[in-house]
Amino acid sequence: MTHRATKIVATLGPASSDPALLEEMIRAGVNVVRLNFSHGKAEDHIERARLVREVSARTGREVAIMADLQGPKIRVGKFEGGKVMLEPGARFVLDAARTEPGDVHGVGLDYKALPRDVKPGDTLLLNDGLIVLTVDSVRGEAVHTTVKLGGELSNNKGINKQGGGLTAPALTAKDMEDIKTAMRLQADYVAVSFPKNATDMEMARQLCAVAGADWQHRPGLIAKIERAEAVPRLEEILAASDGIMVARGDLAVEVGNAAVPALQKRMIRLAREHDKVVITATQMMESMITNPVPTRAEVSDVANAVLDGTDAVMLSAETAAGKYPLETVREMAAICEAAEGHDPVELDADFSGKTFHRIDQSIAMGALFTAFHLGAKAIVALTDSGSTALWMSRHRVRVPIYALTPKVGTQRKMALYRNVRPMLMDTATERDAALAQAESYLKDQGVVATGDVYAITAGEPMGAPGGTNMLKISRVG
Ligand code: PEP
Repeated sequence: MTHRATKIVATLGPASSDPALLEEMIRAGVNVVRLNFSHGKAEDHIERARLVREVSARTGREVAIMADLQGPKIRVGKFEGGKVMLEPGARFVLDAARTEPGDVHGVGLDYKALPRDVKPGDTLLLNDGLIVLTVDSVRGEAVHTTVKLGGELSNNKGINKQGGGLTAPALTAKDMEDIKTAMRLQADYVAVSFPKNATDMEMARQLCAVAGADWQHRPGLIAKIERAEAVPRLEEILAASDGIMVARGDLAVEVGNAAVPALQKRMIRLAREHDKVVITATQMMESMITNPVPTRAEVSDVANAVLDGTDAVMLSAETAAGKYPLETVREMAAICEAAEGHDPVELDADFSGKTFHRIDQSIAMGALFTAFHLGAKAIVALTDSGSTALWMSRHRVRVPIYALTPKVGTQRKMALYRNVRPMLMDTATERDAALAQAESYLKDQGVVATGDVYAITAGEPMGAPGGTNMLKISRVG
């Protein structure tokens, strides 16, 4: 059985709504689907989620669902005729009080707070940085600018401020409604757009807890790092989240393209050090929106994210609106597998100087260390909450981790963890019966065969979350 460690997140959209295609995409390696709440209505997302669960059940591959909230819309208003061409050197006014449609001299603003967030000398980037304006003055509700980099500007394009500093709150009224939808469809993860600090993530968690109370549903929370202000606060954001997304699109506009690759490496390292998951996102296979093969640069980008240690690589428009969604997933899976063969193993260095105070975490680390040094075929974690599998997966070893859980919610959450293959298995209440059941299950699945050595962790008494207290090294009889 091949084991791809890096997970694939695929955004669903019109290009991937057909049930047969979705099934092929999941068989080809999609581990997490992303529902993008920037597009579509609540019913569309509910229907997509229903389809995903149905296809997962049919294929026997449980995938996680991630609801990605839109966040604040920091955008210009609309134009007479839909768009204008801005010439370099021209004056252009962004006016929060303007009600009539825009023209070549100026446009209204969806984001009314802009005049209070900027000062002369600031640089504004529109349409993902394709248009650059410098602020000359702020007069009342009007921001007077000069066009530095011109181009076509159309209705409702986004605005970023170089270096960050726009005060829009991360969670909007629409996000609060969307959180209710996400809880109704039992999203395993909720991604929060544009958080600035830990408080934004804590607020999102509270909203999810209230909206999910009827189902006792607690999703994992992913902070999308896409604001300049979030970068110096990464550690506090990580502490308040279950994971982060390196949201390279908006991040690059705010901090500058050239800063992003080093930030990606730092974010991935920090996330793993904090026992959190990390997704690398945006433009990974961009050319496959229209072409059947990726560029060499895209192949390198995906491979380098794998070598950086990301849990998952993400597809956006490639699978939501592209011409080749299935081919893109297949290509991405193949790139990940090839790169993983060169993944550095630094386990001994990781452990040097580290102490572990929790019994369950110590057992997880003991299992990892022992399996690695023994050259074991597999590590098996019998887990209720998924914590042991998460801790193990924060370190790079080539030994695959098979996480057996009786809870489908845990199985789905673990779909995002690097090097973890989650499986659903009734856990017996008696220890020896559970261990025997796990071994025969893994034999049936072709994971281990007679003579193979594997490490297995479990908790006694069985079935208590946080109760892992036992490590056994077994040879298959
Ligand atoms: C990004 O900016 O890279 C990103 C993933 O955000 P969005 O949801 O806006 O694409």
